[in-house]
Amino acid sequence: MTFPPSRVPPPETFSSRFVRKYLWWLFLLVAPVILSIFWGFHIDATAMLREQMLGQGRAFFTQIVLHREWISDHGGVYVRMRPGVENNPWLLKVPGLKVVIRDESGEAYTLKNPALVTREISELAEKNGVFGFRITSDKPLNPANAPDGFERAALSDFKRGAKEASVYETRAGKTFFRYMAPLAVGKACLLCHAFQGYKEGDVRGGISVTIDATRLIRRIRIHRDYLLLSALAILGVTFGIIGTISRSFLTELRAAEERLVEMATRDSLTGLLTRREMFRLAELEEARARRQERPLSVLMVDIDHFKRVNDTRGHGAGDAVLKAVAQAIRSTLRGYDVVCRYGGEEFLVIMPETPLDQASSAAERLREHVESLKAAVDAGEPVRLTVSIGIALLHQGETVERLIARADAALYAAKDAGRNRACIG
Ligand code: GH3
Ligand code: MG
Ligand code: MG
Repeated sequence: MTFPPSRVPPPETFSSRFVRKYLWWLFLLVAPVILSIFWGFHIDATAMLREQMLGQGRAFFTQIVLHREWISDHGGVYVRMRPGVENNPWLLKVPGLKVVIRDESGEAYTLKNPALVTREISELAEKNGVFGFRITSDKPLNPANAPDGFERAALSDFKRGAKEASVYETRAGKTFFRYMAPLAVGKACLLCHAFQGYKEGDVRGGISVTIDATRLIRRIRIHRDYLLLSALAILGVTFGIIGTISRSFLTELRAAEERLVEMATRDSLTGLLTRREMFRLAELEEARARRQERPLSVLMVDIDHFKRVNDTRGHGAGDAVLKAVAQAIRSTLRGYDVVCRYGGEEFLVIMPETPLDQASSAAERLREHVESLKAAVDAGEPVRLTVSIGIALLHQGETVERLIARADAALYAAKDAGRNRACIG
């Protein structure tokens, strides 16, 4: 037999809120760890790429320097003049420098010094899309060799002792790695630059190498996105699994808690509230009645000569009678009256918003209803039942215990007066 739940909800359960909070904390702790592990991989990959780029920059630089050294050791090289291979106007300005020589047949050869060879190879390299490099100085003879922003900054760093400089630059949607190292003034340099006041060993220029890193940077970015997605997927799957497990755990926990609450608040035989739960609700109703200055009545209901039912028809029959009376009380009274099994065959009804006259007529209705009941028990004769009822109205400043005690006294008065009746206490 189940009765509608009481109007006042049972004590709240905290398990789901606790688990949810705990899951959030777990997420807040684990997510940064996983994200930083994957971010570490990305940082590592970026550092490796930079190392690789630096290695390439250094290798190109060394190769160029070796070529220059060779050319410089031989005082420059002379190449046969033809259209497109002409005298360099800057070299012509250098005092005492033999820019043009002729062979026995009168064929002219023009001088290519290390700087010129370097520039011409760099133009060739750039045209072939291999890589680019430039020789530059802070006092270039040829204005085309003037440093750009990165080179100017690198040159001033070199003067302060830096050994190399590098940077990523983006131009027209492409990413370039630029590397630069200083070039000390050698003997051969002085051939052209001595008049500028250069001394051997001075750092007046450098070679800057430009490598197209677009493809590698794109790969690093794809790698980074892949790592990020992996981290999010791991987090998603992990917390998805934990969430699903927790949810089913919570469902079971909630069911168990509900069963516990049910066990603590409901009498298993009649389905009515327990005495303990009744006291909790009675306190609430008493406080409300006092605050709102509304009447509150209680009924103490006791089955007459119940012991006889047990003695003559057995305990099973007694139980069936208790259920029948519980059902009778529930069906006779209003939905929001609080009904509890107070003791063995005693029931207590708390009636909010009920003055004494209404409580009396409800008690009378209940008494008549039980009297008319013929509780079917086993296959034998139906049991005839009556109840005695004590009625009490909450007085101002009275406690719940006191109110119940008065209802109990009224019940005894009803018993004394011959049973099957209701008395006001
Ligand atoms: P009165 O009219 O004075 O109330 O007499 P009574 O026989 O109803 O009262 P009494 O207090 O003498 O007996 C109550 C009996 O109720 C005694 C006890 O065995 C029985 N009882 C208490 N709880 C249960 C129960 O859960 N099941 C059954 N079958 N009997 C119960
Ligand atoms: Mg009794
Ligand atoms: Mg009794």
